[in-house]
Amino acid sequence: MATKEQSEAAHGAGAGESAPLEARYNPAEIEAKWQARWEAQPDLYAAEPASSKKSKYYVLEMLPYPSGQLHMGHVRNYSIGDALARYMWMQGHNVLHPMGWDAFGLPAENAALKNNTPPRQWTLQNIAAMKRQMNRLGLSYDWRNEVTTCLPDYYRWNQWFFLRMYERGLAYRKKSKVNWCPQCATVLANEQVVNGCCWRHEEQIVEQRDLEQWFLRITQYAQELLDDLSKLEGWPEKVRTMQRNWIGRSEGAEVEFELEDAASAPEDEEKARRGGTAILPAREDAKASGKKIPVFTTRVDTIFGATSLQLAPEHPLVKEMAAEDARLSDEVAALLEQQRKARETGDVGAIEKHGVFTGHYAINPFNSERLPVWVGNYILLDYGTGAIMSVPAHDERDFEFAKKYGLEMRIVILPRNHGEIAANGDREKLLPYTAEDSLLINSGDFNSLGNVEAQHKMAAYAEEHGFGKATVTFRLKDWGVSRQRYWGTPIPMLYCAKDGIVPVPDSELPVLLPDQIEITQQGGSPLGKVPDFVNATCPKCGGKALRETDTMDTFVDSSWYFYRYTDAKNDKAPFATDTVAYWFPIDQYIGGVEHAILHLIYSRFWTKVMRDLGLVKNDEPVERLFTQGMVIRNGAKMSKSKGNVVSPDEMVERFGADATRMYALFAAPPDRDLDWQEDGVAGVSRFLGRVWRFAKKYEDRGKKGGSGRGSAAELSVESQGLLRKLHQTIRKITEDFGGRWHFNTCIAAIMELVNALMAAEPAISAGKVPDAVLGEILRTLTLLLAPFAPYLAFELWEQIGETGDLLRAPWPQFDEALAREEQIEIPVQINGKLRAVVTVEAGADEEVVKTAALAEEKIGALLAGKEIARIIVVPRKLINIVVK
Ligand SMILES: [Zn+2]
Ligand SMILES: [Zn+2]
Repeated sequence: MATKEQSEAAHGAGAGESAPLEARYNPAEIEAKWQARWEAQPDLYAAEPASSKKSKYYVLEMLPYPSGQLHMGHVRNYSIGDALARYMWMQGHNVLHPMGWDAFGLPAENAALKNNTPPRQWTLQNIAAMKRQMNRLGLSYDWRNEVTTCLPDYYRWNQWFFLRMYERGLAYRKKSKVNWCPQCATVLANEQVVNGCCWRHEEQIVEQRDLEQWFLRITQYAQELLDDLSKLEGWPEKVRTMQRNWIGRSEGAEVEFELEDAASAPEDEEKARRGGTAILPAREDAKASGKKIPVFTTRVDTIFGATSLQLAPEHPLVKEMAAEDARLSDEVAALLEQQRKARETGDVGAIEKHGVFTGHYAINPFNSERLPVWVGNYILLDYGTGAIMSVPAHDERDFEFAKKYGLEMRIVILPRNHGEIAANGDREKLLPYTAEDSLLINSGDFNSLGNVEAQHKMAAYAEEHGFGKATVTFRLKDWGVSRQRYWGTPIPMLYCAKDGIVPVPDSELPVLLPDQIEITQQGGSPLGKVPDFVNATCPKCGGKALRETDTMDTFVDSSWYFYRYTDAKNDKAPFATDTVAYWFPIDQYIGGVEHAILHLIYSRFWTKVMRDLGLVKNDEPVERLFTQGMVIRNGAKMSKSKGNVVSPDEMVERFGADATRMYALFAAPPDRDLDWQEDGVAGVSRFLGRVWRFAKKYEDRGKKGGSGRGSAAELSVESQGLLRKLHQTIRKITEDFGGRWHFNTCIAAIMELVNALMAAEPAISAGKVPDAVLGEILRTLTLLLAPFAPYLAFELWEQIGETGDLLRAPWPQFDEALAREEQIEIPVQINGKLRAVVTVEAGADEEVVKTAALAEEKIGALLAGKEIARIIVVPRKLINIVVK
């Protein structure tokens, strides 16, 4: 994945390994020394209080699940965040850079089952191990505000929030169809079902079960979650698009059809009614049954083309009809079974469509025509209203169904040039015709309206006449948060025989998770088998009550953890509102794109709820979001089953933390996938060795030089060349931290600078580069390395005699004049004759040189009216324009 330039730079860095033994770069020694020093300063990375005069910068990497081992994806994620945090410190900001643990979840229970270790113990051990790894990597976390979500000082606030939501009707309980993973032995949120399978068990088909569940009413915020996406300009467009699609707003109309009273049907219609394939005309004496069938449609403009209604097999009316019709009952059962199977394989959209006529008709409120009512296996009860109007001429799916069963089709919209089409008799060839830029026909008073206008007028008409209205529906569903698991936040609710559902009073929080229980993972909530937990007292009547035994989805934990970082020790409130107001929104959040929907939509929802509770002032939690690419190896995602996992510990042991981190930033732009190559890490390590040796060799001269090198114009060509390269490098890195984040090319630029220094060694030895210039170069190089290779940078800082705190040393300023490229003069010929001379930057590419030559006044005049055959550019030497 490295660019050509980078690999050359890295190779260059590897050359010349003949340094004497005593001058060997030894990362193990350097890093151990600094790690010990840093650990002796617990406040080293501490953020200043909200009263600080500095501008704040909150940089955050997504918190890990404590599996016990960091993987390379973590290392990459944290190396990006750490470089940014260090850069922001050096830019003089008050930086908050915290870390914590998403510590509830299933693996702890699996491990408990396997190793007979209690989940809490297993989790805390893993946290300790991963914290050691993070410290070994030299990551700049402010551990004073560590958050561990499985500890009661954190999860009590999950419970507290849950109670606040319950009071406001945002948390509620209902029986519903849920996604059930037999392997997880628990319910999954819709967001956790991927292609019909469990997000953790890719091969496990998710089953549907009916269960009483707790839900959070995220749909109440659907519109705002959608609208505010437009404010998130610092988010990747792909993430915003994914959220927009997930929320899935569609505008349309709800229209009520009414079932015809079958008994009122006249005898002369008997035959026509039987097949249910045709519309029956309006009749004065057709009686309505009073049974309404609301239908949601995004295309009410085509309602005159409806030729049947299609109901979900589980629609309540279908149940009524089937109760009186054994044949129908059997057929509906078969349709339902087909639907269930399709749901389990996850793709109801691709189901082979089957349907059955119910024998009943419903009245189209727009024209009083009577439409046959069918049951379709492709209609879902929980989508829209569980009933659709079928318009075969203008909908792909309806068209397919109508063809199969011979249902009537009626054209009601046509392209604006339909006159010509009608003349050719080719209308049918257009079907299904679904375009939205069309005109209405066969639609009564609405004829010849454009269809968008018709949608508004027809919805208004329905509302006026009391049988419908314009509506908006969302794909987003309420968030089911109940899990039949042990290792999660207990839901703070009680069930009393007398009082029903009773919330646990705030004064009794936290509802503690019992410490040690037997985990079997066989059916039901594990907490249900712990009598001490289950049996409680009703706070209302003082009688017996049973505790809720489900725990919360772990996505609750990660929905607001980053607020807690600002005030993690608070035992009176989840956090102090003032402190949060200072730090929020998060300036930069960094994590994997796999969290684009779940975590990032839940945490936006949570923020809006907290705002409405008066706890925060911001509408959105995150100002800028960055999603880094994956770390792969040999072309595949690292995984144990593929045997291509590289352990960070091994890399750090062999090459040092600096080289490992720096390689993670160097090998690819941070938003792309990174193919891990050990040779590459070794190359970066050799490069750091060169830097170290160079500094060692010249540190005394650098120290002697002081700071007064005088103006650049008085310096030698060699000095000017080195200073130019130095200031170009500062400019490049400063600009990249400002937004592009091409840390790979930043590091390549540092490598090129070092290569230039090595190439200039003869001149340096010959005294052509004064000590003051050497000192400036060594000092600046150290500052430039600090965000990427902090151990080496701290070591060099000390070596060159600096005593101040490197972490907060000011970031170097580039001198625009110095950074400017050397200017060279290039002769311009026309047909081989010298005509002018242009001045360009020495590094200018061919196009720039051509443009400069053609723009030259004299050349322009000579070329007037002539045709240029070709332009020959000899780099840095000559340009020849050949004219006819
Ligand atoms: Zn599962
Ligand atoms: Zn009670």
